[in-house]
Amino acid sequence: MAKTPAAGPNTLAARLARLGLKNDADFVLHLPLRYEDETRITALADARPGVAAQFEVDVLDSEIAYRPRRQLLARVRDASGALLLRFLNFYPSQQKALQPGARLRIFGELHEGYLGPEIIHPRFHVVGADEPLPERLTPVYPTTAGLGQSTLRRLVEKALVRADLGDTLAPELREKLNLPEFSAVIRLLHTPPPEMSQAVLESREHPAWRRVQFDELLAQQLSLRRAYTARRARGAPRLKPTAKLTDALLKSLPFRLTKAQQRAWREIAADLAQPHPMQRLLQGDVGSGKTVVAALAMLHAVEAGYQTALMAPTEILAEQHYRKLAAWLEPLGLEVAWLTGSLKKREKEAAIAKVGAGDTAIIVGTHALIEDKVEFARLGLAIVDEQHRFGVRQRLALKEKGLFAHQLAMSATPIPRTLAMSYYADLDVSVLDELPPGRSPVTTKLVSEARRDQVVARVHEACRAGGQAYWVCPLIEENGVSAEANVKRSGRSENAVLQLKTAEETYARLAADLPDLKVGLVHGRLKAAEKAAVMAAFFANEIQVLVATTVIEVGVDVPNASLMVIEHAERFGLAQLHQLRGRVGRGAVQSACILLYAQPLGELARARLKVIFESTDGFEIAREDLRLRGPGEFIGARQSGLPLLRYADLEDEALVEQARAVAEDLLRDAPQHAEAHLQRWLGGREELLKA
Ligand code: ADP
Ligand code: MG
Repeated sequence: MAKTPAAGPNTLAARLARLGLKNDADFVLHLPLRYEDETRITALADARPGVAAQFEVDVLDSEIAYRPRRQLLARVRDASGALLLRFLNFYPSQQKALQPGARLRIFGELHEGYLGPEIIHPRFHVVGADEPLPERLTPVYPTTAGLGQSTLRRLVEKALVRADLGDTLAPELREKLNLPEFSAVIRLLHTPPPEMSQAVLESREHPAWRRVQFDELLAQQLSLRRAYTARRARGAPRLKPTAKLTDALLKSLPFRLTKAQQRAWREIAADLAQPHPMQRLLQGDVGSGKTVVAALAMLHAVEAGYQTALMAPTEILAEQHYRKLAAWLEPLGLEVAWLTGSLKKREKEAAIAKVGAGDTAIIVGTHALIEDKVEFARLGLAIVDEQHRFGVRQRLALKEKGLFAHQLAMSATPIPRTLAMSYYADLDVSVLDELPPGRSPVTTKLVSEARRDQVVARVHEACRAGGQAYWVCPLIEENGVSAEANVKRSGRSENAVLQLKTAEETYARLAADLPDLKVGLVHGRLKAAEKAAVMAAFFANEIQVLVATTVIEVGVDVPNASLMVIEHAERFGLAQLHQLRGRVGRGAVQSACILLYAQPLGELARARLKVIFESTDGFEIAREDLRLRGPGEFIGARQSGLPLLRYADLEDEALVEQARAVAEDLLRDAPQHAEAHLQRWLGGREELLKA
């Protein structure tokens, strides 16, 4: 170990921890972003503006000047010319080093200043008369505030001496894959000789980088395969179906299951009868009918004598599920329990007690279900709706609770192939690739903000004809931060206050514009009961126009609503737009989604609107989303704080495929190598990657 982490956010250990640097292997794998060439000295006369170079100079004099602000100025020269060094921030030690007559090596970009050629904040050090030049390029590492390059370099150098750089791939395997040897690669990347072309090294296409990328993907694959094996080895209750309850539900439904629903239900039922925990994703575009499949699975668990829980990411959605399940299941003589954060303390304690005693078999709720206090008497099946909306830590918490239970996740966000092969490799997938019959496709229109009046008129017309409409309020933009990031943070910030103000203004304006219609407002700051009341009124068509923030983004199902307007659509993320649009087109009426946008459109916003306008296919949209945002955002990895892949690129399908094959071989033929490889790459990070 290099350092034992001490307390405090500003200790060296804390700074290193922020970069994920704890043990020697971490330092070894902390690879340079780029290099600086300090192996040569350039004469001042030969310096080119904008090109960083090293110079060797003598100090003529130095002074602290106060105009326009306090700064340290030093005049220096070599045999070919003179130069000014300018420091806007400096330490007394730096000032002291710049004594007249001192010899310096400085590194930086020269530019033409007011007083002639100058370098601002050059890196420099004092040298003796014949100090030799380094023979290797100087690495520049990714770092964090308060942690200097020289400190990092020293620590990496030490780690390189101490660490075990043994190769985890056998020579034959390396040959087959055409990959260079590990220790050579590591030494080359940390300290390349000057003749290595910097451009090649930095472009990440060098064979050395290729090896690093492969190793990183291999570690990921190994970790996932190991999780898979561990799960298969764990016991879970075999849920034997009696089909009594499931058949009764199927008979009572006003519709027949689609072929896709039947297939998914068969796959899930088969898993539930296995003696190890199911880990399955039910993936189906918005409106494809995932809820009823979940209900069947829940009944299957209940028939077999176990408890089952359904967790949803928002109160509104949890409430809707609760009501839908109660409507379906109470006629069958089953009670549905309800647990959310907004319950009164007493109600909540009562619900938790019933769950713990096993008095209630079916529980619906929000993430209140995964709080520490909640203990299930005999949980057989846990279901997570809209699972991509939960953070990494919440997903981990549910995994812990239901370690020996079957798990079903549901999502409308399809997983692109490369992600499926990597992050979600420990997952079986059922797909609903068919919408229930009688749906009419949603037409999407892009309308400039300038024509808002026409849109209001259209809403008026649709509602007068018996329809209903959603009007989605704009997100607040926080100095250019992406719409998506914005949503994740709102709730606690000042932003949430602004958001609320906007929602109330939008509501007031619309209510004034549409005096003969009943307009309602729902947003995240309302109490749960208030939210529920508004949603119930909208469901009953007592409200015709529902002004809403993104609280209605997922799951909300009101078939009579056939028109959706999204204001400032350019501020929303792609997945959000798709989910929002999915709230309409649920009945037989022709539905429309109107995206109001304001000029000027940024490049990314324009690209998003184009995608959502041209496609209604969730898969296509998710792929574009991945392309525009990158995988980290996609799977909510940002919340974990650590980058999931630092060097490799998930788009590199061929390399992912190769790593997957090698992981399998390695675990079977050389488990000790697999273990060493995992240790080296994942150390303490593994848990987060599995969530
Ligand atoms: P999602 O997959 O987006 O969660 P839901 O489960 O909310 O979709 O279903 C959308 C609507 O379709 C609901 O009103 C549901 O009752 C209805 N539905 C589900 N399956 C069928 C079916 N096979 N035939 C007709 N309607 C269905
Ligand atoms: Mg749903």
